[in-house]
Amino acid sequence: MANTTSLEVHKFSTMADGADAVLHIHEIIGGAGDGPTVGISGSIHGNENTGSQIIRALWPILSQAPIKGRIRLLPVANPRAFAANHRFTPTDELNLNRQFPGDPKGSFTDQLAAAITREFLEKLDIYIDLHAGTDRPIVDYVYILNDENLSRAFGSRVLYHPKEGVGGTTFSGTSKAVTVDARGCPTVVVELGGGIVDQAPYVQRGVDGVINMLKAAGVYDEDPVAPPSQIVVRGIDSIGSTQGGWLETEAPALGEKIDGGAVLGRVVSPYTFEELEVISNPVEKGIMILSHPRRNLVEPGDFAYMVGDLADAED
Ligand SMILES: [Zn+2]
Repeated sequence: MANTTSLEVHKFSTMADGADAVLHIHEIIGGAGDGPTVGISGSIHGNENTGSQIIRALWPILSQAPIKGRIRLLPVANPRAFAANHRFTPTDELNLNRQFPGDPKGSFTDQLAAAITREFLEKLDIYIDLHAGTDRPIVDYVYILNDENLSRAFGSRVLYHPKEGVGGTTFSGTSKAVTVDARGCPTVVVELGGGIVDQAPYVQRGVDGVINMLKAAGVYDEDPVAPPSQIVVRGIDSIGSTQGGWLETEAPALGEKIDGGAVLGRVVSPYTFEELEVISNPVEKGIMILSHPRRNLVEPGDFAYMVGDLADAED
């Protein structure tokens, strides 16, 4: 039997300019029989739109694929932040990924989180949340939360198994708890892409990775490809720039190892041309997770680099 597709538009509020506040959710019902309901979301952070591009590319493929169960796609989770290319919701400057499970009587972002929880998260058996590195840094790792095999099936070289959960993320929307040990719907957060570079290679990796996860989840009648050799880090250091200006990177590429004290990059003034800051790697034995591979503008406190800690890493 052929798959059936539909587009749901869920209105949850009205904006002051008269526009409806809505969520767009695509559903694909597989024609190959019963299976899990898998949800895939992008742009929870509005300036991380690589995930929205991956979902755009997945839709025509999954619509035609011999799949079981249901796929629910939320291509743009935070439309107002997406339109403004902004991490937070411009209406109230809140981080959607800290407001779950939301509150229908709360701030605008609380209402948005509540609508996503009600119309999307609560209907899922498996959840894949696609994040990226914004239009400046590029990022490349996958979280292990409560389903390690599913996380590994995406195929990234570096995985991050945090020691503690963070409150208010989408994961707490699916698990009703904020610890990484919570038993809820299997959830994977992917961090991939970003930067002022062509996103096509990341979109292709995202499409391939998600389809391999769907095979691991039994959505396809096909075995997943075994992942490459992978490293699981238990800690990540986020290193911000304290000065604003041009960030000039000297660090190795993402996925490469870096020793403690090595120079990650330098902040240079676009005005006086002087070197304002040398950013060095604080992790004794590290691996590159987030970086600015080309000259980018940074403000004080921006994400400059993320380095995974190999000291207690696992294979
Ligand atoms: Zn994000």
